[in-house]
Amino acid sequence: MFAVHGYPITTTAAGAALSTFIVETDEATWRAAGLDEFDVTVPPGPSDEKTRAYLEEVFAEQIEGRKLLVNNSRWGNFRTRRTARWATLDPRPVALLGDAAHTAHFSVGSGTKMAMEDAVALAQALTSHPGDLPAALTAYEAAARPSVDAVQGAARPSLSWWEHFGRYHDAFEPGSSPTTSCPAASPTPVSPAATPVSSPPPTARGWRATARSRSTPR
Ligand SMILES: Cc1cc2nc3c(=O)[nH]c(=O)nc-3n(C[C@H](O)[C@H](O)[C@H](O)COP(=O)(O)OP(=O)(O)OC[C@H]3O[C@@H](n4cnc5c(N)ncnc54)[C@H](O)[C@@H]3O)c2cc1C
Repeated sequence: MFAVHGYPITTTAAGAALSTFIVETDEATWRAAGLDEFDVTVPPGPSDEKTRAYLEEVFAEQIEGRKLLVNNSRWGNFRTRRTARWATLDPRPVALLGDAAHTAHFSVGSGTKMAMEDAVALAQALTSHPGDLPAALTAYEAAARPSVDAVQGAARPSLSWWEHFGRYHDAFEPGSSPTTSCPAASPTPVSPAATPVSSPPPTARGWRATARSRSTPR
């Protein structure tokens, strides 16, 4: 089973609509489809073209025959990062912001927001404690950490759901819940996918569709 998180991001100067297209699957499906052959040790830049071709076919109905664009596109495991200390003075002053300090599963769409809020909190802390860097860094973490903890807590069920959705699909009766969800923010509804799955937790967002992998991997 493959699932896609898709949501519009921009319209090009030529008028073409572009969307983010993030695909999740479980390891067994990924290997069975032969998608584990891309050498992830090559430097950033090259995209996994075999995966692109495969997913264009799997999701042909949802993308209505259009092409998938790639940009350093590879498979990866999402890792939730929590950092014990966000700042240090020794051996030199360092403050961590954004993903360096914390991550939250992308289905809650908050990573960039958290990084920006860190930057605002750090700037405010430095301004409020002129000449007192230790106090500023302590104030920075105290101000920014609570909302990060809340987002990471809210992301946990979403992460768990997306890591096990194949199992839920097999457990639920077909038709017991919709396969695609399309919030008001999404201007482009997608066709219902062939196979219903259980609904993700409310923290997840964007439209989603699932499609079974091809029966004959290549
Ligand atoms: C698949 C996916 C989808 C996501 N979707 C969303 C979303 O819809 N909404 C949202 O808010 N968040 C989303 N996120 C999370 C979001 O991308 C991150 O939380 C956000 O980019 C973190 O910003 P950052 O500046 O901390 O780190 P980054 O954006 O990773 O920036 C770090 C930069 O540092 C550079 N760098 C690394 N090492 C070095 C070095 N040694 N020297 C110099 N430069 C270096 C990197 O090249 C990079 O440009 C998503 C994440 C993923 C993985």
